[in-house]
Amino acid sequence: MLGQRLPVRLPDGRLVDYANLDYAATAPCLAAAAAAVNELLPWYASVHRGAGVASRRCTAAYEEARERIAAFVGARADDHVVFTRNTTDAMNLLARILPAGTTVVAWAGEHHANLLPWARTVRLPLPGSPDEAVGALAATLPALDGPALVTVTAASNVTGELWPVAALTEVAHRHGARIALDAAQLVAHRPVSLADSAVDYLALSGHKLYAPFGAGVLAGRADWLDAAPPYLAGGGATAYVGEATGDVRWYDGPARHEAGTPNLLGVVALAAACDELSRVDPGVLEARELALVRQLRSGLSRLPGVAELRMFDADQDRVGIVSFGVASVPAAAVSAHLADRHGIGVRDGLFCAHPLVRRLLADSSARLGQPLGDTAVRVSIGLGTTVEHVDRLLAGLRELV
Ligand code: PLP
Repeated sequence: MLGQRLPVRLPDGRLVDYANLDYAATAPCLAAAAAAVNELLPWYASVHRGAGVASRRCTAAYEEARERIAAFVGARADDHVVFTRNTTDAMNLLARILPAGTTVVAWAGEHHANLLPWARTVRLPLPGSPDEAVGALAATLPALDGPALVTVTAASNVTGELWPVAALTEVAHRHGARIALDAAQLVAHRPVSLADSAVDYLALSGHKLYAPFGAGVLAGRADWLDAAPPYLAGGGATAYVGEATGDVRWYDGPARHEAGTPNLLGVVALAAACDELSRVDPGVLEARELALVRQLRSGLSRLPGVAELRMFDADQDRVGIVSFGVASVPAAAVSAHLADRHGIGVRDGLFCAHPLVRRLLADSSARLGQPLGDTAVRVSIGLGTTVEHVDRLLAGLRELV
């Protein structure tokens, strides 16, 4: 991984290795992703638009990347994999392809990317448990008219907690609804499979998957994608354009929604990162990450005036993301202290999930019996995180509290 030993100069003049604990925002670049980009760069040319050798190589690389990413997300043979800029773009594309009259059901715990794109939506209150989420969905769907889409984050970008995707999928399908997964935070931590899970759509961002070259994906059922007007109108999406306004025949398939010159290097980097992650035993990755999460959470639980944010029980399955408040110190001051005194990168704020973080801060304040302020600190763990990084973070927090 690039940037694994990044010396940073602190304001007091000390030089320390940077401890990146902000993978959930953007993960560093895998060497394999950078190598794939470097290998292709001398050949860099147009995609789907040239007869020359370089263009043909780039076109092939683009479409092979699509196949490799389809394999990574366990796409069904007849699913489409559409390239987007990121998860936000993928969710907005999904919002645009919904059949007329579709109601979108989402919970208040979503990232804004999965909360704001929907025109006609039912927002369910934050559940106190996975079972409550499943029950609320089962109670809501029968009352809806017309097509319905349930959309849920696979792993919370605030708490790391996993949502009960299998049970929600079963309920959605039992009531004739489809289900979309915001997998932005899941895919770097756990294997996914559209085919095995029966989930209908999945969105992800390359820059959270160790491929920081600006590509994302919406993968899933072809019928809605092929029936909808193109997400972007323009060259590359058109099979025929006549003289008269509106005389246009659009392609079916991913090209329908990918007008304009595509982000070749982004998708090639993303495919390389997917291949690399697929080579690692997921059990080994998970065990390593959960050990770091245990170290982090048990350290936090021993700090006075510090409370972790969570939706569900403390032992809910989760990925390596933990947010917390510190009663005596504003979150921005905590993260500045960690950066300036210890060379640690974390994030503070509301993490593009304003309703969720506000609610969890209120809950945690009540549990703690002290107000935690109006923003939180988020620590997120990835492939380059070490025991020393977590120790350093806990030591830095101890100084503050
Ligand atoms: N969904 C979740 C759960 C996220 O964590 C994020 C980013 O933090 C997004 C969606 C949006 O991703 P992007 O900013 O890459 O569009």
